[in-house]
Amino acid sequence: MQNQNIDSPKTKSVATTHTPMMAQYLAIKAEYPDTLVFYRMGDFYELFFADAIKAAKLLDITLTQRGNSNGAPIKMAGVPFHSVEGYLAKLVKLGESAVIVEQVGEVTGKGPVERAVTRIITPGTLTDSALMPDARDVLIVAVWAQDQTLGIATLSLASGRFRVMETSARALAAEMERLQPAELIVAESFAASVAHISIKRLADWQFDSGSATKMLAKQFGTKDLAGFGCEGMDKAIAAAGALLHYVQQTQRAALPHITGLTVERDDDFIRMDAATRRNLEISETINRDAAPTLFSLLNTTVTSMGARMMRDWLHHPLRDRNLIAERLTASAALGDQARTYVADIRHIVGEWADIERIVTRVALKTARPRDLAALRDALAAAPSLHRLLSDIETPALVRRLSHFCPESHIHAALAAAVKDEPSITIRDGGVIRDGFDVELDELRGLQSNASGYLLELEARERARTGIASLKVEYNRVHGFYIEITQGQLDKGTTLPDDYRRRQTLKNAERFITPELKTFEDKALSAGERALKKEKLLFDLLLDELLPHVAALHLLARAVAELDVLCANAANAREFDLVAPEFINDDRIHIDGGRHLVVESQVQSFIANDCDLSRSRQLLLITGPNMGGKSTYMRQVAQIVLLAHTGSFVPARSAALGRIDAIMTRIGSSDDLAGGRSTFMVEMTEAAAILNNATMNSLVLIDEIGRGTSTFDGLSLAYAIARHLAETTRCYCLFATHYFELTRLNAELSNLANVHLDAVEMKDKIVFLHKLESGPANQSYGLQVAQLAGVPKSIVRTAKKQLGELEQAQAGRHPQGDLFSALTTSNPSNTPPMLGFEHTALADAVDDLKPDELSPKDALDAIYRLKKLRDAS
Ligand code: ADP
Repeated sequence: MQNQNIDSPKTKSVATTHTPMMAQYLAIKAEYPDTLVFYRMGDFYELFFADAIKAAKLLDITLTQRGNSNGAPIKMAGVPFHSVEGYLAKLVKLGESAVIVEQVGEVTGKGPVERAVTRIITPGTLTDSALMPDARDVLIVAVWAQDQTLGIATLSLASGRFRVMETSARALAAEMERLQPAELIVAESFAASVAHISIKRLADWQFDSGSATKMLAKQFGTKDLAGFGCEGMDKAIAAAGALLHYVQQTQRAALPHITGLTVERDDDFIRMDAATRRNLEISETINRDAAPTLFSLLNTTVTSMGARMMRDWLHHPLRDRNLIAERLTASAALGDQARTYVADIRHIVGEWADIERIVTRVALKTARPRDLAALRDALAAAPSLHRLLSDIETPALVRRLSHFCPESHIHAALAAAVKDEPSITIRDGGVIRDGFDVELDELRGLQSNASGYLLELEARERARTGIASLKVEYNRVHGFYIEITQGQLDKGTTLPDDYRRRQTLKNAERFITPELKTFEDKALSAGERALKKEKLLFDLLLDELLPHVAALHLLARAVAELDVLCANAANAREFDLVAPEFINDDRIHIDGGRHLVVESQVQSFIANDCDLSRSRQLLLITGPNMGGKSTYMRQVAQIVLLAHTGSFVPARSAALGRIDAIMTRIGSSDDLAGGRSTFMVEMTEAAAILNNATMNSLVLIDEIGRGTSTFDGLSLAYAIARHLAETTRCYCLFATHYFELTRLNAELSNLANVHLDAVEMKDKIVFLHKLESGPANQSYGLQVAQLAGVPKSIVRTAKKQLGELEQAQAGRHPQGDLFSALTTSNPSNTPPMLGFEHTALADAVDDLKPDELSPKDALDAIYRLKKLRDAS
């Protein structure tokens, strides 16, 4: 344990050798040996010993040394209390947890103030808006593995959503990529490693499904868990129990907003493995940036709740076509050109605060005054939203959403109690409206009437003493006093007997009288009593809201959903999207498909079709580097993904058969953390596809075999393509730089060659980005190298070398080429390599003066010329 090292005194000797305060600190610290303890001392939170050293490094704060405890100087680092949230935010981002120890007792002067742990902040259990990202859920996930099965429980504490599922142990990485937990809870015995996630290990016995069932039923107020549809899911329940227990411990409060759990099934969603989520750049780019991604582009929601739901939908494409259809019809109705529903709805909810999180803070009793004001303002607008929605006729989903409108008395209670603009914390008062509570009004009256009374007293005292310059005043340190200048006193004026000296200044004396003292006691205690009363009223208000937490969460969910549906409707127009059609044939037919993110970055995007069916199952895609192969493959997958989230899709039309999974093997990246080489990553991903893809899976394979020697690579690519087309028979887009593979179509009737084309102009290369049938005829590797800035002399040397290699190769395989050596098929069937005469075309293009044409026209012209040339 860290606290046994030289910087941390042993807690055993606490009683005798440490100061009482240090003893108190160490007693608390002993309970949290692995967590940073923030110990409140006046206006600062201090960290001591090893914690101080660690915090100084992580938070970039000064490490100091003070006093002496148990014979050694005390290492300290501290942060001011008013800026602690920022430091905590930084810590949780780094995956650290923190224990907050507050002063809870009165300062007595005898011994240290009583202190207690009031909050434990861990990366996965955040509910404070200052610590959380707006546009994503913070999830805490627990995993329990047994018999090759994973039980997974997921909680978003800030919304109360609690889900469980069971899946195969192999799916761990995929599930972590899908859920992206801020914190993962596993058992001590759990062996698998998970990179990039803050991990908390609990003893194995905490994952006991029997006691978990009891604990969960108690939390939900049910007899057992029968109503949740999770019977037989022992592993998931064990995980859920451990998760709930951990959260209860960190929150130190009841969790009334966690009222049940939902079971997720493997087949609710289109499966996507970890690599696929990354490769499709759904909400993170390959480099783990937030933009540009599908989410960053399509998230035109106007509330944080909507943004979170949008992200969730994009990561959870549905299999249930009825649910998808509901979303599509609802968005279509909202986007109806004849009305401006979208604008009207956005106008109303765009003003709303994050009521989903606010309601959770109400449940946890950590809501602040402004939370309640924001909730009140949202509820004030709920009825007009309700009216607007009841206008929209058919869609069942919209009708369902319009039933959320909570009972009006909740709004009435908030409106009556909370000031228009309450202060930030209840400690400062100024939260409860005047006229709400008689006693509070009286106490406030006492304070504010003071000025009238003091003026009157001043007049009386002036008359009594005959001193016209006498003043009755107040300051925070000395309270009320009567001030008389030294000049007056020097004149020898006798003061009334009841004047008691309170303070002597250079030019004046300050006095107090019994009358003024009585007033002071009343006024000051009135202030304190008013604050206490306000706090009480505020707590009562939270209690009053508590029974409505579930209803308010439903409202929050409905608004979020509405926001996403509106965003989908608006995006359809903004990005020129169409409604996908779901068909019963085994087919993926996309007409004029586009890649939204690439489209947003290039001047003119070339749309491409895709036709996959049982007789055309695998498209073998060739073409030069930079030709658009991976863009094309990704766009097909993204269209399939978007369609299943209930979104419109970037195409002229899209008809989709049943899909159960999207799997990809794209790009090459070293798995530095896992210590696997590029080739190992490549083969692991390929293995996952070969083992898991079904006839209804969409599989993208890009440049397989790159990470090893040519012969190895080609042989593997050949075997994999063949297996996918012949045995798996999945929908497959297979891009390759092994030109030899294009001859596979002679053997496999369900494999078709397509290519992305380019033309050479003099020494330059123009990519056409248009998908054509048949194999590509040249790889343009050297031209691309030149385009990339490789010096001309090197490109020339490479050209020479290429010529020599080609000659040598022809000599080594007299009856064909590398491919022939791999296959047993008749080599004479294989088409000859096509030559490419470019000079005439390039001259013709030069004549066109492409500089004077728009890029799109130039490409069109080049494209037409090439067609002409190919035909002749
Ligand atoms: P490849 O996988 O063949 O090496 P990419 O798909 O990575 O090529 O595409 C390279 C670049 O070409 C993209 O970054 C994009 O700028 C452009 N591009 C690709 N497809 C298209 C298209 N259909 N229309 C316009 N530009 C495209």
